Amino acid sequence: MALAANDQTKPNDLDPFWMPFTANRQFKQQPRMFVEAEGVHYTTADGRKVLDGTSGLWCCNAGHRRKPIIEAVQKQVEKLDFAPTFQMGHPLSFEFASRLTQMVEGFSQVFFTNSGSESVDTALKIALAYQRAIGQGTRTRLIGRERGYHGVGFGGISVGGIVANRKTFGPMLNGVDHLPHTHDLAKNAYTRGEPEHGLNLADELERIVALHDASTIAAVIVEPVAGSTGVLIPPKGYLKRLREICDKHGILLIFDEVITGFGRLGAPFATDYFGVKPDLFTTAKGITNAVVPMGAVFCRDGIYDAFMNAPDNTIELFHGYTYSGHPLACAAGLATIDLYKDEGLFERAAELAPYWEDGLHSLKGGNHVIDIRNIGMVGAIELAGIPGKPTARAFDAFLKAYDKGLLIRTTGDIIALSPPLIVEKSHIDFIVDTVGDVLKTVH
Ligand code: PMP
Repeated sequence: MALAANDQTKPNDLDPFWMPFTANRQFKQQPRMFVEAEGVHYTTADGRKVLDGTSGLWCCNAGHRRKPIIEAVQKQVEKLDFAPTFQMGHPLSFEFASRLTQMVEGFSQVFFTNSGSESVDTALKIALAYQRAIGQGTRTRLIGRERGYHGVGFGGISVGGIVANRKTFGPMLNGVDHLPHTHDLAKNAYTRGEPEHGLNLADELERIVALHDASTIAAVIVEPVAGSTGVLIPPKGYLKRLREICDKHGILLIFDEVITGFGRLGAPFATDYFGVKPDLFTTAKGITNAVVPMGAVFCRDGIYDAFMNAPDNTIELFHGYTYSGHPLACAAGLATIDLYKDEGLFERAAELAPYWEDGLHSLKGGNHVIDIRNIGMVGAIELAGIPGKPTARAFDAFLKAYDKGLLIRTTGDIIALSPPLIVEKSHIDFIVDTVGDVLKTVH
C-alpha cells in the first residue's frame, strides 16, 4: 500500500519503530496507516474509510474521537497535568475510583495501572500479598490456563498459555500450573453463546489442587471469555464451578476482564454477565475508551481491609506505578463511563447482540470456515489452517478485508470481531458482507 506522496513516513523511515506483535518485515513492505478516526471509522493515509471491526484493539468501545472524552482531557491538561499518587493525591483519582466501585456490587477498591499487562501483574501480586496478610503465606502457586492471554509482563506470560509468547523468554515465574483450555471444536462448533460441553474441564482444578495441596495455591486467573486467542467462550456453568472449587480450597479467583470489561458482553463486566464474582478482576482498554492508557484492578470487599487491619499497619502493598491514577487518564475515564451511561451503550450492546449473532452465523458454509462463535458484541470465525502455515488464511483475509474497507483482527487462523458498541445494524451488515466476500477468495 503506497503512502501519500506528501507523507513524511516513507517506507525507509519505518525501521526505527520496532512494532509490537507485528510481522515487521511484511508491514514495512506493505504499510497500513491510519491517520484519523471518527465514530466507527478510521481514515487511512491514502484517504480511504475503514470500518473499525475491532474497536481498535478491543478498546474503543464507544467509538472514536468522542467529544466529551476529548474535552475532559483537554480541560484537565490545562489545570493539572500530573500529580504523584505516592504519598500525595489529587481529587480526580479518588472520584474516579469511587465511581468505578459504584459500577459493580461487592468491589470496594480499585488499584490503578496503565495497561492490561500491568493490571494482571498487579492482581497477581495483590493475590500473593493478600494470602500473606491473612496468614496464608505458604500459598504462593498460581494457576492460569492454556490459551490464556494475560498481557506481556513476566507474571502475565507465566500464567498465560500462548506458547509463542512464552518460548523465547527463558524461565518464567516458578510455581505456575495451567488448566486445560475449553475450546472443543469437535463438540461445540457453531455454538451461539455459551457451549454445552466442557463444564467438567473446571474439575481439572481439583486435580491440580490434589497434586500440590491447597495450602500452596494462592490464586487462579482466567479470562471469562478468552479474547486474544480467538474468542473462546466458557462452557455453561464453567466459571461458577471454578468459583466453587476456589471457595472450597481458599484459593482466590481472578478474572482478567481487560477485554470483557466495560460493556463488551452487553453488561458492565463479565462478572455481571455470568453472575459469578471473582475476588479480583483486571480491567484496562475500555476504561478510558483508549483515549489515555489506563487500567484498574477491582478488589472485592475485604481485600484492602486485610492490609489495613494488619498488626501495626506493617503490611502495605509495596507496589504502584508513577502513573497510577494519572490525572488525564482519570479525566478520560470519568468522561468515558458517563458516556457509556448517557448513551446506554452496555444495554445497546445487549440489544444488538442477537442481530450480531445472526449476521455472524450466516457466514456458515463460507470457504474454509470450521466454526463460528459469539457472545455479546464479540465473535469469531475459525478457518481451517493450511498445514504448516497456521496463520496464512486468516492473515490473507485480514489484508483483503483491509482493502475492502474493514479492519478485522486475526489470531492463528481465527478472525476475531469486536466492533464499537455504537455500531448501527447497517455497519454490522457491512462487516458480515465484507467478511463473506473475503472468504470467497481467501487462499
Ligand atoms: N489481558 C487480556 C485479557 C487482554 O486481552 C490483554 C490485551 N489484549 C491484556 C491482558 C494486556 O493488555 P495490554 O496490552 O494493555 O497490556
